[in-house]
Amino acid sequence: MADDCIFCKIAQGSIPANFVYQDDEIIAFRDINPHAPVHVLICTRQHITNVAEVTDQTAPLMGRLIKVAADIARQEGVADKGFRLLTNNGPEGGQVVMHLHFHLMGGRQMKGLG
Ligand code: 5GP
Ligand code: ZN
Repeated sequence: MADDCIFCKIAQGSIPANFVYQDDEIIAFRDINPHAPVHVLICTRQHITNVAEVTDQTAPLMGRLIKVAADIARQEGVADKGFRLLTNNGPEGGQVVMHLHFHLMGGRQMKGLG
């Protein structure tokens, strides 16, 4: 765990979150400041800073994370209508919490990028 990393603390249970999914490698919980009716954050338990830090060792975990996202989209009832799955990377990418996470957003029409 990285010192003072809020998502490491959520993964450890020392900060509460509204979980929708957990396994030994991946956790998913509702965003505290939702931008859509469904807004779930899907994270690795392991502290990986962002996509730029993914290695050959952690690449398979990224595949699993996307499969978990598909399962959550179905569970949340947005798989058929559509949803957005995105990850911010670094300061210019708009990343605020420096622990790899994907935003799964749905339940309204998404528009634009940027
Ligand atoms: P980023 O900009 O890093 O991609 O997104 C970070 C997201 O984490 C934001 O949407 C923000 O609302 C969410 N967030 C920040 N702190 C917490 C927290 O303590 N709990 C939860 N559930 N979400 C958080
Ligand atoms: Zn972390």
